[in-house]
Amino acid sequence: MTDKTKVLVTGAGGFIGSHLVTYLKEKGYWVRGVDIKYPEFSDSDADEFEILDLRRWDNCLQATRNVSEVYALAADMGGMGFISAHHAQILYNNSLINLHTLEAAKTNGVKRYLYTSSACVYPEYLQENANVTPLKEEDAYPAQPQDAYGWEKLISEILCHHYQNDYGIETKTVRFHNIFGEKGTWEGGREKVPAAMCRKIAEAKLSGNPEVEIWGDGEQTRSFCYINDCLEGIYRLMRSDYSEPLNLGQDRMVSINQLAGIIAEIAGIKISKKHIDGPQGVRGRNSDNSKLREVLGWEPSISLEDGLKITYDWIESQVRESKNIKAEAKSESLTASN
Ligand code: NAD
Repeated sequence: MTDKTKVLVTGAGGFIGSHLVTYLKEKGYWVRGVDIKYPEFSDSDADEFEILDLRRWDNCLQATRNVSEVYALAADMGGMGFISAHHAQILYNNSLINLHTLEAAKTNGVKRYLYTSSACVYPEYLQENANVTPLKEEDAYPAQPQDAYGWEKLISEILCHHYQNDYGIETKTVRFHNIFGEKGTWEGGREKVPAAMCRKIAEAKLSGNPEVEIWGDGEQTRSFCYINDCLEGIYRLMRSDYSEPLNLGQDRMVSINQLAGIIAEIAGIKISKKHIDGPQGVRGRNSDNSKLREVLGWEPSISLEDGLKITYDWIESQVRESKNIKAEAKSESLTASN
């Protein structure tokens, strides 16, 4: 890297994007962040932050000007509740974002382009058991992702492949497996399961009511990767010469019930699980990290417990703060009405 290589991070107002901006600044890059919103939980460390809707071609041209690398993280996304209920919106918005961002990057002479795909590309028929065989990159085909979110990710992966072959722009494709950490959405409907579970358990702790709702029987399984490992993996992949899709996640699989148990222990409370109807996604999912180890000579190493401790503490403080704000607002309105 020359002293001030200029890079663009799209989705820089989001969870992974805002952390990535900070990480790249620490590495000495000049960073432009772009999003339709500013980061919710801290100021951005970007040298320049532009509010742009990347579904629009003209905005993509503006975003990708004068940078040599693009980390493409912008997406209309959320946890299972959101993804399973907004297929058309997700397919439309994310297709436009990715078609226009990659074409604009090519037009502006960008050298390297990292696309953030997802474990949601893997076919439903390989994920029907909780004790699932870990998913290898080549398992993505024959394709049958569960949701429109996964279908769009597959198409954009293929788009990157052809742009590299046909136009010479160097593309990288990473398939994340459930990234979690502090400063991510934890309420409102777009939060993912680790954040939602931390919030529910923090609420149980603060209210003294030990009941915690879990969608389904809680025996569905996933692996979870802490944000700092994710950032290092993204960076190593961008610096590598590998251009095929690559898993990035932990390969320790836990059930949602086990996840709840670990978080309750961190919170220091006993919970009683209440299983309710709700979208659960595939029955089981885990990452096969063989290719990751082979290509990057590295794999995530931060334990689930260590990552969850940091995440839980942050979410508990957010829940406390929001309770205080609500209590203050209530007492102000009572005072006003007296
Ligand atoms: P996030 O929702 O926190 O961040 C995405 C950002 O994109 C948001 O800030 C959003 O405002 C922005 N965005 C949405 N529409 C936009 C538009 N039209 N123009 C500009 N910006 C727009 O999500 P995240 O968890 O940080 O995910 C980052 C990337 O990683 C996404 O591509 C996501 O699909 C992928 N991914 C994440 C996970 C995970 O576990 N977090 C798993 C698999 C894949």
